[in-house]
Amino acid sequence: MPIRPEHVFLYPIDWAQLSHQIRFVRAGGHCEHCGRPHRQKVFHLGDGRWWDRNRQCWRNGRGRRVQRPTENILLQGRWTPVVLACAHLNHDPSDSALHQLAALCQRCHMLHDGPEHRRRRWMNAHYRRALGDLFYGPYPKLGGDWITPTPLSMLDDHRSGTSSR
Ligand SMILES: [Zn+2]
Repeated sequence: MPIRPEHVFLYPIDWAQLSHQIRFVRAGGHCEHCGRPHRQKVFHLGDGRWWDRNRQCWRNGRGRRVQRPTENILLQGRWTPVVLACAHLNHDPSDSALHQLAALCQRCHMLHDGPEHRRRRWMNAHYRRALGDLFYGPYPKLGGDWITPTPLSMLDDHRSGTSSR
């Protein structure tokens, strides 16, 4: 995932080296959540299950061996090239403690970051509405009424996406 310009100073100076160390030395070039190999095209079913060509078995989104799919894999299956990125597990780019970093494929990265990205989008919209209220009067009149009250999922550490992996 590219580093946003406003975040660049939060990353340690040796980020490139650190990221390389995590992805290729510690993780051995495999996603640390699902096991997919870096820079290989992987055949998968879209729900996390993928064919591990090296070990000749199917794995699920957590990297565990699963039974051969019963559905028609020619219809359900797709090829996707895997690219590993080094992710911050606590979403804080200034905290590069090794246990907070993980080598993740695009799919696992998206699943991990999804709830946090939704939370930030909602917060940004909320701030905009608050500023709008301050300077221009109540925001709903100006078309901001789609911003709903804080969803429950954002009040606790609810992780809705993890069960589907
Ligand atoms: Zn993965």
